[in-house]
Parts: sequence; C-alpha cells; structure tokens
Amino acid sequence: MSSSDQVLKNQFASDNYSGICPEAFAALNEANQGFANAYGEDDYTARACNLLRDFFEIDCQVFFAFNGTASNSLALASLCQSYHSIISHELAHIETDECGAVEFFSNGIKLLLADGEHGKVDPKAVEHTVLRRTDIHYPKPQVLSLTQATEVGTVYSMDELDALQEVARKYNLRMHMDGARFSNALASLKCSPKEITWKAGVDVLTLGGTKAGLPVGEAIVFFKKELAEDFGYRCKQAGQLASKMRFLTAPWIGILESGAFLDRAGHANRCAQKLSDALVEIPGVELVHPTQANAVFVQMPESLIEALRGRDWRFYTFIGSGHARFMCNWATTEADIEALAADVRELAAV
Ligand SMILES: *Cc1c(COP(=O)(O)O)cnc(C)c1O
Repeated sequence: MSSSDQVLKNQFASDNYSGICPEAFAALNEANQGFANAYGEDDYTARACNLLRDFFEIDCQVFFAFNGTASNSLALASLCQSYHSIISHELAHIETDECGAVEFFSNGIKLLLADGEHGKVDPKAVEHTVLRRTDIHYPKPQVLSLTQATEVGTVYSMDELDALQEVARKYNLRMHMDGARFSNALASLKCSPKEITWKAGVDVLTLGGTKAGLPVGEAIVFFKKELAEDFGYRCKQAGQLASKMRFLTAPWIGILESGAFLDRAGHANRCAQKLSDALVEIPGVELVHPTQANAVFVQMPESLIEALRGRDWRFYTFIGSGHARFMCNWATTEADIEALAADVRELAAV
C-alpha cells in the first residue's frame, strides 16, 4: 500500500467524505446476484419506487440520477420554459455550486436571488422579487426553489414552509425542494415526510441519497405525476439513465426498509449538536448559524483555522457565509468530535 492509499481519518469537510452505510452496502451486495433487467426495468427499482411512495404516503413518480447537480437541474428544467426564472436563496447550491447547470439544462432560464436570514428564503423577499418587474422584457418567475436542510445547516420549520407556500400560490409559482440533506431536516423536525413536502406545496423534490449513506445517487420525486411527463427522456439525454440501475436503487431499499435513512441522519444531527456545544465554549469561537441539522458553522480567527489545517483537519471555508463549516455524517463518532474539539481548544489557547 502506498502512502496515498492510506485511509483518511474521519473528517468534517463534507458529508461525502464518508463511505457507504452498512444497510446500503448489504442491499447493494444482495442485488449483485445473477441477472436483472437493465435501464430501470428491474424489480429492485420497482421496489425502491414503491418504498418511496410509502415513505411520502402518496402515489408519486420517482426517478433516479447519479448526483444532485443533475437531479436539481433536470427537475427544474422540467418545470420551466427557457424564458422563465427560478427564485432561490443567494446561498443556494443551484446558484453557488452547480457551475451553471440549471441554466444550461433549461436552455436559458435566469436565477433570481432572494435573501433571508440563515440561508432561508424570506417570503417577503420572494414577493419583492416577483413584483420587481412584471413586464415582458424580464424573465417570468415560474419556480420557487428551497433547500431543506439549507446550505448553512438550518431547517425550515413547518410554519416557515407554510408562509412560503402561500406566496408561491399567490403568484402561481411551482415549488422545488433541493433535499440533498432532506433526511437531516426530517430527523430535525421529527415530522412525517409528507408534511414538509407535498402537503407544504412542494411539486418536485430532489431527494438526497449520497450524503445520507448511499454509494451514489439521488431520487427525483414528482408529487404531481403530470409534471413528470417525458422526464425519463430528459434523464436519458443528460446521460443520467443508469444502465445497471439496480445498483443505484437497491441501496435505497436497504436504507428505507431498515429505517437507516432517518436513523443515521438523526445520528449525524446529534453529532453536530455535540460538536456545536463543545465549540461555542471555546474562547474566540462563535456560532454563526443555529445548528439544526448536521452542519456546524463557526467564526474563528484565521490563525486558528490555519493551525487546525496544520493538524490535518479538513473543513471548508468557502460554503455559504464563508465561515468554517464542520459537517457530520452517518459515520461520525463521538471520538472524532472529541478529537476535533480538543484540538480547537488547545490551539485556541496558544
Ligand atoms: C451536495 C449537495 C447537492 C448535490 O451535489 P452533487 O455534488 O451534484 O451531488 C445539492 N444540493 C445541496 C444543498 C448539496 O449540499
């Protein structure tokens, strides 16, 4: 084994540093028996779709894609004509981290940015954005896209979603939800999945699997089936139709049937809370967003950031508000948190 093959210690940079959770891995392994129909015509895929229908308690239309960027872009493109606009938060992943994929796949739409505290779109900002221009020279607002949990680790409450649904209804906007960390939001709110999706007005959800412990893949869930018309073609054209689909979908069966989807997100959230509680006790370290899901955002001196990097800790400082972000995931342990907190404590004291 060369030194570059060495296993990394657990890190806090991205939930995607983690491996595959055991429930997903077991299901993947089980699906690797003999033969199955290709391109999603297999029984595993049918079962995964049905489990998601049970999960959301509605007869929804479900598709699977390799990643979140494609899922968001294709879902949004399916809701828009090229002359439309999509309203999202200025920190939204579709705005800051998808390299223009939404605009690319929808052939010309414009993202209109609305602000709001702690990564959450403010309903008044949506209204303002819609009303700023209503003439034919400006792209017509068509979709409100919300991220749940948000890019800065906060969660829209049911009341907040209700207020946003009201504005969306008033101005005839469709609602898209980027749920890359939907399971973390759900574990945080302790409500049923339907209450923060279709009952809250969400038309299409990008449901995160990768960050929740799958090897790869997200689901695109259409709560209004008519909106899914021809969506399969869109996926295929974009290179997102998996030929050996069972390996994308069997892991969903594993995490949904076992309950791991929610349980492991709850674990990640509890880890983040523990880390948050430890970090705020340290002089010079300040929480910049409430810890409501699996991320902790703190402000700390540049010298401390560098010193931590010197001890081989990996974390991002370019996400959202540009502060240090520590992500927890299904594989984070108490020992990881204690080790990180101990280093922060020690380095902050020098
Ligand atoms: C991770 C993430 C995605 C998906 O990103 P991919 O790297 O394309 O899978 C989408 N939205 C949010 C908010 C994310 O954090």
